[in-house]
Amino acid sequence: MEAAFNIGRYRVFRLEEWQGGFSPPEALFAEYEDAAFAAQVAGFEPAFFRDGMIYGYLQSWLIDTGTERIIVDTGAGNGKDRPGIPIFGNLATPFLAELEAAGFAAGDIDKVFCTHLHIDHVGWNTEWREDSWLPTFPNARYYFPRADEAAWNPEKPLYATLAGAGVNANVFEDSVLPIIDAGLAELIDDGAEIAPGMRAWTFPGHTPGHMVLEVEDQGQVALFTGDILHHPMQVLRPDWNSVYCEDRVQAAASRRHLLERASARGARIVPAHFGAPHSLFVARADDGSYRPRFASH
Ligand SMILES: [Zn+2]
Repeated sequence: MEAAFNIGRYRVFRLEEWQGGFSPPEALFAEYEDAAFAAQVAGFEPAFFRDGMIYGYLQSWLIDTGTERIIVDTGAGNGKDRPGIPIFGNLATPFLAELEAAGFAAGDIDKVFCTHLHIDHVGWNTEWREDSWLPTFPNARYYFPRADEAAWNPEKPLYATLAGAGVNANVFEDSVLPIIDAGLAELIDDGAEIAPGMRAWTFPGHTPGHMVLEVEDQGQVALFTGDILHHPMQVLRPDWNSVYCEDRVQAAASRRHLLERASARGARIVPAHFGAPHSLFVARADDGSYRPRFASH
């Protein structure tokens, strides 16, 4: 497998876990307007829209700095019971074979960074071995936003107030808690340094503690943005949230902040669920709107 792109000297590989029609657009976007979507839809086919459905991916990103290997987000995982979102339950994907195709074994991974603690971003943190959920990457430190641990831990009071608690059923127990119990977790705050040239910034709203990983080397910058953007329509309409965004006002403000930062820095945006070419740049127009620019390298 070839690297998807480089950030200076760092190579970045895309590990695909799943692709498919996810949901009709009116079921994904909380602020959906038919005419606004229809005006853009031709430009979205087939990578981002097919057969009336938003087309999406579960994909992880592996950054190889030459001295460290860091995985950003870990998809849905295999064999997990997901009553709140059956489409991602009991999967049997060759994710670890993808990792091998990129040239790495699970034991080679030094760090795992989860942008947030939703079902489709923490799954491969663990795998079922010896009758329990154990860390898939035994030699890694796992970085979780502290504010998301406080929100998604069912033992803590905030959990009962979350709209997504049902969708995220079982996720903390089988994909986060075993990492904490194994002593491999680092709970991090805004601005945490993950590695030289890599910092995690809080962009709240989609979840209370959602983070973006900013990676810079030799003047090139990439922003690994998790679920700040699910679809290029949200570059055109940053006011459109997904129905999975917990705090819609805050999530839209974080989306604008992200677009502003990416356009000002010329940074590549690397989302979790975008179709080919899977990452993008954005340009700010004089009227303050943004346009996506897709470039594979
Ligand atoms: Zn997601």
